[in-house]
Amino acid sequence: MEGKVDVIKLIDQDEMTMDEVRAVVEEAHKAGKPVVAHAHRPEEIRRALAAGVDCLEHTGLATAPEYPPDIIAMIRERTARMALGPLWWTPTAEGLLNYEYFRDNPEALDDPAWKEGLPKDIVDDVRKSLEHPDRLPYYQLTPARRPTLAHKFNQLREAGVTLLIGTDSGIPMNFHSHSTWRELDAWVNEFHVDPMTAIRAATYWPAVAMKAESQAGTVVPGKFADIICCSASTSSSSTACGIVKLSRARFRLSLRRNRMTDRTCKESFKVAADQLVETLKKLVHEGNVRRVIVKQDGRTVVEFPLTVGVIGTVFAPMLAAAGALAAVLSECTIEVERTVADDSDKKDVA
Ligand SMILES: [Zn+2]
Repeated sequence: MEGKVDVIKLIDQDEMTMDEVRAVVEEAHKAGKPVVAHAHRPEEIRRALAAGVDCLEHTGLATAPEYPPDIIAMIRERTARMALGPLWWTPTAEGLLNYEYFRDNPEALDDPAWKEGLPKDIVDDVRKSLEHPDRLPYYQLTPARRPTLAHKFNQLREAGVTLLIGTDSGIPMNFHSHSTWRELDAWVNEFHVDPMTAIRAATYWPAVAMKAESQAGTVVPGKFADIICCSASTSSSSTACGIVKLSRARFRLSLRRNRMTDRTCKESFKVAADQLVETLKKLVHEGNVRRVIVKQDGRTVVEFPLTVGVIGTVFAPMLAAAGALAAVLSECTIEVERTVADDSDKKDVA
């Protein structure tokens, strides 16, 4: 606990004594750290709930069709205790739902996205391990587990848990580069969760669960955010996130006001989508641009705040996001806000 631990994860807690399980949870909670627990076997779930863990992981129970009544009763008892806050549960369903697709369409495993940043020998090793997706022992039971997932998911929902978007990336054929949007897609299109509920389960609620809500989770000044540009409204179709050429940009959102001695000038002009990236590069290099708003048909598509001092860290992701946008826009209007020092105060404000 004295090390830089953010969260403790229990696994196989049904093979520990109950005293050991309680000790882990109590010590972690004393230090203000959340505890998550594997929820595969019934006794793992019972012990995790009895010890008061904060979040359970995976849908679990292998091919069993549903959670037994005593476990549902324990969950309901826990979720009825408002003072304890939400009971989190991360079902990680997509790895199981998508197995058969990847088994039957292994060319999807050549997607360059998952190889980004990995050394060649590791990429080769991973790819070799997936030569026969139909023979992977990990997935022996998956075709029989798959039909049980929707019912288990709904049992959890009805018992009052707060479900979180999370993935089991790292299991065979399941890469970080696609697993999050596939989980969102599974919730909306397989389990019929309202899209905005799914988005909140991927943003706001995990930030609260990880005690990181002062840093992330909502789009407000002062927090970090991954800006994801989609070609369709995410409130109507989460699938759009998967099919669009997509870029994420990490911003520290800032609405810092200009000093009183500065004047803000605004200008706007039209550019063709294929000129968007070049135009943004030029604007950023001009140095006094504080905000760039990209609009199409009068509606704001994206806004890039360029607070002094953060330009270096947001520049590359901003251009990546703009590149993705250019693929889905035709012509757009760029609005630029610049800071111009007043004649009465010629000091550099940066
Ligand atoms: Zn796990």
